[in-house]
Amino acid sequence: MKRSLLIKPTMNEQYPTVSYGKGIYLYDNKGKRYIDGSSGAVTASLGHGVYEIIKSMQNQANKVSFVYRSQFTSEPAERLAEKLNKLVDADEDYWSFFVNSGSEATETAMKVAIQYWQEQGNFKKQRILSRWVSYHGITLGALSMSGHINRRERFVSLLEDYPSVTAPYCYRCSFDKTYPTCQLMCAHEVEAAIKRIGADHIAGFIAEPIIGAAGGVIVPPDGYYQKVREICDRYNILFIADEVMTGIGRTGKMFGLDHWGVKADIVALGKGMSAGFTPMAATLVSEKVMKPILEGSNSIMSGHTYSANPQSAASALAVLEYIENNNLVDKVKENGTYLLKRLKEELSNLEIIGDIRGKGLMIGVEFVSDKNIKQSFHNNGAVTNKIVKKAREKGLLIYPSSAGQDGVGGDAIIISPPFIILKEEIEELVSILMEVVSDIQKELGLTGGT
Ligand code: PMP
Repeated sequence: MKRSLLIKPTMNEQYPTVSYGKGIYLYDNKGKRYIDGSSGAVTASLGHGVYEIIKSMQNQANKVSFVYRSQFTSEPAERLAEKLNKLVDADEDYWSFFVNSGSEATETAMKVAIQYWQEQGNFKKQRILSRWVSYHGITLGALSMSGHINRRERFVSLLEDYPSVTAPYCYRCSFDKTYPTCQLMCAHEVEAAIKRIGADHIAGFIAEPIIGAAGGVIVPPDGYYQKVREICDRYNILFIADEVMTGIGRTGKMFGLDHWGVKADIVALGKGMSAGFTPMAATLVSEKVMKPILEGSNSIMSGHTYSANPQSAASALAVLEYIENNNLVDKVKENGTYLLKRLKEELSNLEIIGDIRGKGLMIGVEFVSDKNIKQSFHNNGAVTNKIVKKAREKGLLIYPSSAGQDGVGGDAIIISPPFIILKEEIEELVSILMEVVSDIQKELGLTGGT
């Protein structure tokens, strides 16, 4: 009997045991092959068993794997910080605070934002404005900022009562408008919320450039982030970009916000930053935010034992170098355009397909029970779970997500294969998914579409 707590009770099933991975494929201990169609949790961006990364990890392990951050820095950590600084913004310097997970990165961002105002004598700016739906992590601070009902509901009494605004979700616009005649009402809502709560109580506004786990990939309309950035500046509120899922090439640009030419004051990274080779994440803090901290208490009031350990820094550095040396961000754009086109061609007509959307290799598929009125199944993700399970049986791994304006009961999946996927592998992925969705439709007693 397996006793690891990886088993998801709601699915009441045991997962296969992995044996090894190569390229975009994973193999279980019975020899069955799976396409890693979601790079795990949108993480293993380079696929599995990449020689160059493994070599760098071995080299680092031969030197030193661990030092404590208040006793030593290390060459890979310094080089990684320098590289991230160059990548994130050509005009301003960013400092890296290394942590071990996306939740720690967003929670550190939250604390840094609050500390930034405290260092200037302002102790009232303590709240973080976020969006519903959203997901910023599982720890209590990160969860307080998250608009994700399932992950919050058991712990609501422990969470900070942070305010939120609606997500820029054009498929289900909260204002019942259409872009561009909507004049970006969702962005203007940010201003209305700030006025209601009082700018002197808000330390920062946090957003995933493209909403992932909580919304099945929600791409905002053009102009949204430019407007939101301008509002944050006008009301003295820091703009925190949660690039944990979108960062490091996933959307066909190095950072998600680059699609709109907008810069954040603080950036959270994780997942693809070390592409799954070791746990590694970071909070990038702009010079503007660092200045009063350096002039004040001169340290960020946070940290973890494994922060900036040389082993993880070496893997993340090797990942960034591999992406650059192989022009993988361009590859993501090309592969993403092709995958999105093929998914739309093959799946759009099926009865339960509501919407197929995304940027680069971060693609969401939303399922509906009635596509004419965009009716969700409202079954607590049961259709998503069936699709994910059936896909796994047929050798395709995809990431379950939720959808729907309120994040309750809507069904969606994320398709986010490794950057190195080949055209024929994309065809294989699309054809398995097509079979899976058709089968599930039949199981649900629906036969429509082609
Ligand atoms: N932010 C975003 C945007 C995420 O997608 C996730 C993970 N799904 C997190 C934060 C939390 O990251 P982790 O699971 O590594 O703590």
